[in-house]
Amino acid sequence: MWQAEAVVDLAAIRANVELLKAKTSAEVMAVVKADGYGHGAVHSARAALAGGATWLGVRSLPEALELRAAGLTAPILAWLLPPGTPLREGVLADVDLSVSSVGQLAELADEVRRIDRVARVHLKIDTGLHRNGAPPDVWPKLVEAAAQAQADGVLEIVGVWSHLACADELGDPSIDRQLQVFHDALATAELAGVAPRLRHIANSAATLTRPDTHFDLVRPGVAVYGLSPIAGETFGLRPAMTVRAPIALVKRVPAGEGVSYGHTYVTARETTLCLIPIGYADGVPRHASSSGPVWVNGRRFEIAGRVCMDQFVLDCDDALVTAGDEAILFGPGDDGEPTADDWAATVGTINYEIVTRFGRSGVPRRYR
Ligand code: PLP
Repeated sequence: MWQAEAVVDLAAIRANVELLKAKTSAEVMAVVKADGYGHGAVHSARAALAGGATWLGVRSLPEALELRAAGLTAPILAWLLPPGTPLREGVLADVDLSVSSVGQLAELADEVRRIDRVARVHLKIDTGLHRNGAPPDVWPKLVEAAAQAQADGVLEIVGVWSHLACADELGDPSIDRQLQVFHDALATAELAGVAPRLRHIANSAATLTRPDTHFDLVRPGVAVYGLSPIAGETFGLRPAMTVRAPIALVKRVPAGEGVSYGHTYVTARETTLCLIPIGYADGVPRHASSSGPVWVNGRRFEIAGRVCMDQFVLDCDDALVTAGDEAILFGPGDDGEPTADDWAATVGTINYEIVTRFGRSGVPRRYR
């Protein structure tokens, strides 16, 4: 019997990047953090570059080094670098590094002096998300220190950047507020003689809906994988991931039988139960117990009872089902099968989390 798998459509990733590129005159950085939102960082990166992305964005240095080890030579920005990160390795691997504080800048300069290289940095301003980035009152100091380090030949300031908090909420006033802080930060940098080649703040939602946020580079993530950051809009994107599994066993049970741990689901009538051999260890959210939608032989059924670690049961009613038939948890939705958005709505999360759950530690991935 065949095995459960997450099938990733690389042509879809490529087409999604082409679509995003057509929306802007800025360069496109494909965000491939978290193993390409569960789609595989290296394969996704290659497909995104083929679609016209010129940059890759990741959270951590190990993620960037994984891309380099796979032979990817495109510019990469890594943005979450806790103290003790071996920054030198990043510089030696030509990874651009984000800097959010004077202390971090000093640590980087120290590392770089020992290896006689120039670090490529993107200075991050916290315009209001209040995650990473220098707060506006510290920004002038960071810019001044960076300008000095640049004059000393230690680093090159490639970018000034930030991240939006509510770009997926159309018209949210925080977007304009953050943009204003960003413009002010750029003006401060300019006064200090810092003229970065790349100014960037836009994620997928802003790339798709706010051209005034594009500057020199946009950083879409979720849209690269064909998922919309805004509920109810598809923007013509094509979801790249399909999760499917073979039905492992089929049985008839009478009415009134409890199903799966805790017997939280009780059959309402004599029915056909199908065993699906993937569970929460593979990425199926346990919150989908008695609710997750699954597509079998052209019909949608719901999970019966609790999702277990490695399996769950589907109530297939009176359907004609045979062991080995295909159960699709989600896909692009072309034939009526559920989508990652359907799963997100069912379990009360976002499509980002659904696909990311089926990453490296879950079911095997296959590319097509
Ligand atoms: N830029 C940064 C710094 C991020 O952390 C992310 C992801 O959260 C993105 C860009 C891409 O965001 P999205 O997936 O919403 O396009």
